[in-house]
Amino acid sequence: MTESTPETGPGSGPEAGEVRLRGLPVSPGIAVGRVYLIGLPVGEKGRTAIKPGEIEAELAAMRAAVEELSGELERLADAATGPEQGILRAHLMLLEDPALLGEIERRIAEGQQSLGASILDVIATYESMFERFDDHMIRERALDIKDVCIQLLNVHVDRCQRTLLTPDEPIIVAARELLPSQTARLDRGKLLGIVSERGGMTSHTAILARSFGIPAVCGVPDLLPALHPAAMVVIDGTTGDVVVDPDDATIERYRARRDALAAERLAVEPVDRGPLATADGTPIQVLANINRPDDLALDSMGLAEGVGLFRTEYYFMTSRRLPSEEEQYQQYRDVLERADGREVIIRTVDAGGDKAIHYLDPGHEDNPMMGSRSIRLCLRKPEVILPQIRAILRAAMHGEARLMFPLVSTRSELEAATALVAQARESLRNDGVEHRSDVPIGLLIEVPAAALNLESLLPLLDFVSVGTNDLTQFTLAVDRGNPAVSHLYQPLHPAVLRLLAHVARVARSTGTPVSMCGEMASDPDHAALLIGLGYRRLSVSPYLLPELRRRISRIDLSAARRLAARALRSGSNREIKSLLEAENRRLTGSGS
Ligand code: PEP
Ligand code: MG
Repeated sequence: MTESTPETGPGSGPEAGEVRLRGLPVSPGIAVGRVYLIGLPVGEKGRTAIKPGEIEAELAAMRAAVEELSGELERLADAATGPEQGILRAHLMLLEDPALLGEIERRIAEGQQSLGASILDVIATYESMFERFDDHMIRERALDIKDVCIQLLNVHVDRCQRTLLTPDEPIIVAARELLPSQTARLDRGKLLGIVSERGGMTSHTAILARSFGIPAVCGVPDLLPALHPAAMVVIDGTTGDVVVDPDDATIERYRARRDALAAERLAVEPVDRGPLATADGTPIQVLANINRPDDLALDSMGLAEGVGLFRTEYYFMTSRRLPSEEEQYQQYRDVLERADGREVIIRTVDAGGDKAIHYLDPGHEDNPMMGSRSIRLCLRKPEVILPQIRAILRAAMHGEARLMFPLVSTRSELEAATALVAQARESLRNDGVEHRSDVPIGLLIEVPAAALNLESLLPLLDFVSVGTNDLTQFTLAVDRGNPAVSHLYQPLHPAVLRLLAHVARVARSTGTPVSMCGEMASDPDHAALLIGLGYRRLSVSPYLLPELRRRISRIDLSAARRLAARALRSGSNREIKSLLEAENRRLTGSGS
């Protein structure tokens, strides 16, 4: 990353009234605009007590949520048949039950609790009341009450999110921590940039910003105290500079720099499409990481040979409840049809950690990144993953689908996951539903234990991909989203490289296709090293494909191998970085 100096950077010379801050540059480019502050949605866990003057607004929020949920249940019930229709009608009746709504109202008006806290309180009261009964009818009713209450809470949280996330004009979003679910819902057409106090290079918000192609600066200390609603802000996603309340001269300088960068981008040599190879003719595949079907519409998508990572959890995050098998089938089919015969690696839902999905919340955990997230959560809740697997196998009728499991650390987890695929196949066969039973199964390697134990996992797998974001985090014991330790988050650490070399060697020795879809692959400066380590398939955000393709076409395999061998003999991140810098200077012919 280049840093602007006081002499040459657009922000030279602090001006009176401006506040200058510095964070981690995580997505390049410059944005100038009004700030839009996003906090935690009202009704989430944090907010419990309300002031007397807020009671009326909270009751109105309850009525609005009830009305919205009733309308939705009504529509679903009309479209449903059989027992499902009966359940939906029973839920509608409960939602009209004055006793239940009265309980929530009383807590808001008399207890001065927020709507969210009141609903949670009512759930707890009913649970403890009904748990004394053995009668299963009574217990069923308790479950229905809980179900309706949770739906109501979800509608409320969703309404709060929508209000927060629908600005009228293009904005720079600012937050202490922007949740991936919030980022995923932002209207891209209105998003100029992102700036936050928390988050690092591989936090999901940073990954999303890069995939949207918008500038972002994360990990900015003391950002929020410096901001006020609708403040003008400048962010530089290449240097990490943030200017709050810039004066006219600063705005002009940054605008000029932003326009110059845009012009530079347009002026670069066009990239060749079609099969890609290094300078000596070694074929390399580049694929795209996507979060939703629309990402395939991006122009640069034509430069990818397929989708190396479809992060399906973004669809779950933007849905209010667990998406049905049918809804998921439509999503996956849409992606496969847009991919037009190219392969699409669909990763099963990777929820939890920093990608919280409220209806899949595992409850409080002291260390959620290492807790009940991802495949662990799914194995505990087959009702979440089985419909997804069924949807993938069905959608596979419309293209080249692959199914990939994330975050596996033990062989028994992988066995349990693949047993679910067998179960899904059998149930589809029994139901007489069209599907493909030969969809290749892969593993995203993001836990060091899985990398080191790969030999014993491979017999269960058709392919592997390396997720360096989590792999780096777990190898170095460094939280990928915590700016306080971001200097220790080093994908080029020798320990990480040795794991990468091991995975490539083991996979290739058994003829198992191996790719990399973690952010490490996105940096063109890493390409020679990764190719030298044995990686021939790199999957990155579609926006980054042109630059990556250009760099790869200049690489010579034997030089790349020599580079990788030297890097593997090195003892520190710094040494490896300087090896890479020298190699990339040679490749790009630049002195920088
Ligand atoms: C990874 O961890 O490298 C990965 C690809 O998964 P995610 O970034 O979605 O955690
Ligand atoms: Mg991961």
